[in-house]
Amino acid sequence: MKDISRRKMLGMSAAALIVGPALALTGRSAAAADMPHVDPQDAQAKALAYVEQSAKPDSHCKNCQLYTGDRTAEWGTCAIFPGKDVSTSGWCSAWVKQAG
Ligand code: SF4
Repeated sequence: MKDISRRKMLGMSAAALIVGPALALTGRSAAAADMPHVDPQDAQAKALAYVEQSAKPDSHCKNCQLYTGDRTAEWGTCAIFPGKDVSTSGWCSAWVKQAG
């Protein structure tokens, strides 16, 4: 019985080591200014044709439904690129017109 409790404790400690930092990362503010910017040369960015300056005057990250950051800032978060900021002047092929 005592052995099982020790195993449970070790398992819980291991889970805390894995989940703790993940929660800390996801708990960061969407307005965090220190997020790395999406590199347009990254494989995912290239696959989605992401650019930091949209060539389409009416389509850019600032008015994209998938943009989750501060729309008055130059950079912010996007659901497509977790953990990185996109340019609010940018664009990618996943662009969806902001509702409303
Ligand atoms: Fe910008 Fe594409 Fe993200 Fe929309 S999905 S905010 S266009 S990077």
